[in-house]
Amino acid sequence: MKDKPNKNKLYYTILISVAVILTIVVGIVFLSKPKEEKDEKELAYTDLIQMVANREIEKIEMTVGSTSVKVTVKGSEEGKEKNSIVPSTQAFIELIQDEKLNGNDIELVQKPASVVTKIFDTIFSLIPTIMIVALFILVFKMQGLGDKGKIYGGDENLDTGVTFKDVAGLDEEKAELIEVVDFLKSPEKFQKMGAKIPRGILLYGKPGTGKTLIAKAIAGEAGVPFISMSGSEFIEMFAGLGASRVRKLFEKAKKISPCIVFIDEIDAIGSRRTSNSGGESENNQTLNQLLVEMDGFESNETVIVLAATNRPEMLDKALLRPGRFDRQITIATPDLNGREAILETHAKDKKFANDVNLKDIAGDTAGFTGAELANILNEAAIIATIKKHEAITKEDLDDAVKKVTVGIEKHSRVVSEKDKKLTAYHEAGHAIVSKFLPTQQDVKEVSIIPRGVAGGYTMYKTNEDKYYISRTEMKEKLVALLGGRAAEKIALNDISTGASNDIEVATEIATDMVTYYGMSDVIGPITLKPKDAYEQRIYGENIDAAIGSEVKNLIDNAYKEAQEIILAHMDKLHAVAGRLLEKEIISAEEFNSFFK
Ligand code: ADP
Ligand code: ZN
Repeated sequence: MKDKPNKNKLYYTILISVAVILTIVVGIVFLSKPKEEKDEKELAYTDLIQMVANREIEKIEMTVGSTSVKVTVKGSEEGKEKNSIVPSTQAFIELIQDEKLNGNDIELVQKPASVVTKIFDTIFSLIPTIMIVALFILVFKMQGLGDKGKIYGGDENLDTGVTFKDVAGLDEEKAELIEVVDFLKSPEKFQKMGAKIPRGILLYGKPGTGKTLIAKAIAGEAGVPFISMSGSEFIEMFAGLGASRVRKLFEKAKKISPCIVFIDEIDAIGSRRTSNSGGESENNQTLNQLLVEMDGFESNETVIVLAATNRPEMLDKALLRPGRFDRQITIATPDLNGREAILETHAKDKKFANDVNLKDIAGDTAGFTGAELANILNEAAIIATIKKHEAITKEDLDDAVKKVTVGIEKHSRVVSEKDKKLTAYHEAGHAIVSKFLPTQQDVKEVSIIPRGVAGGYTMYKTNEDKYYISRTEMKEKLVALLGGRAAEKIALNDISTGASNDIEVATEIATDMVTYYGMSDVIGPITLKPKDAYEQRIYGENIDAAIGSEVKNLIDNAYKEAQEIILAHMDKLHAVAGRLLEKEIISAEEFNSFFK
């Protein structure tokens, strides 16, 4: 990624130069040529020939390199000339000379080209050369040939300075990878024993779960260099460059072995090979080169290739064969203990007030990645600095969590009374409906202060991490999501666009229930959701229709149930919405006090 801005700069320089040249050329064309052409005394070429033959023309003036001629008609007043364009100057000159031989007294004057025309011609003839030279420079730069500092275009971070103790949680993953560290440290030991050590290890996991971090830590632990590149760098490349880049990366790796090669976003080059057309085939070349390199290691070359992806199902199966990325490790989002450990790691260099308990924060952040947790602590430190606090307080941390999850609070946005009322009923609807659904989490906070793109929000407590979600829980989630829309409709007798995101999420959940989790009795336990665009559909139109009607049933029933709950608790809806309009934000205790 580091060399991206340079590449862009080069692109822009070339683009701007070409634009400037074109502007000059166009400017000259407009300044010189059209002046004559706009002349109303334009004489058609056929008429001109006729008049020459009729000996009506006194003089013809031509300029070298121009097809425009000046014509003086016999007997016309002094200075009254006409213009004409001749298709071929050579043929025209021959024609006039023929006429002269036949006794025509026509005068032919040939003038040298004007300075402006000369410049114009020179520039015009140079343009192709300039373009070709520019293109060559561009290609050279992209291949890294013009740039002695870097042999290849990837990121070079030979000494990462990261070790396993910088990687919090992920204990099992670290335990699995410790043998790789051992191997990098003393490969002979393993070779003597005849042990085969993995060439390639694939790390599966969401962005921010620490895949890059753990790859760097392996290099750091073993004290070997770390070189890396990202699959996304190849997306806009010229044909053949991807493959040559991969070759250079591995050339370098072999030279400095033992070392770690890290390929981020490998799905960008390693997607399934499907066709041989256009961009696909470029991808194929890059992927093929990668496969060749993976197969081509000598036994004395201690290079371990780690690759990361978030979309394992997209990968070409050839990548996963023995001797290539035959070992796969899933890096999951951290559990409660993992989150606490990550928070502690990133809290080390920060000052906290006494009311802060990182365990509580870990409890509130189920599903967060390591990167998001690190981000929360950083945001909290920024908030504390702005508020001139001595140390980071619990409130700063809570604000940071909200900033990262719902977006930044927007006090400046002017909200009309009507919008406020709508938001109040909408959010009160979510909160009240969830209150009466046994599987749904308790409400933590309800607010009608705009944050990010949301006009308001209802926050729920997160309880312990769960690995499975039941059908009942998913159905009730749909009810809770549609509670906002139901409240708007019943209390205000109108519905708004504010529920669009709820509806989107609900539709997605209902579709997954039917097509992925096999939770529809009509369709049964079959996976019908294509994993990617390439996968063949195994079902016909009648199943398509059944999916549609099952999804619709789930949503319809959930919406009905949401309305029933609202109708049964109208007094609470008015009370909570009323309080929201008054205070804009209400806590869990305050919300629960309505139900005593
Ligand atoms: P990925 O490669 O999976 O997208 P990264 O390794 O780039 O994620 O993680 C981004 C940042 O998140 C790291 O630099 C680190 O600050 C933080 N982070 C992620 N996971 C952990 C972890 N297990 N322990 C400590 N920090 C972590
Ligand atoms: Zn909503």
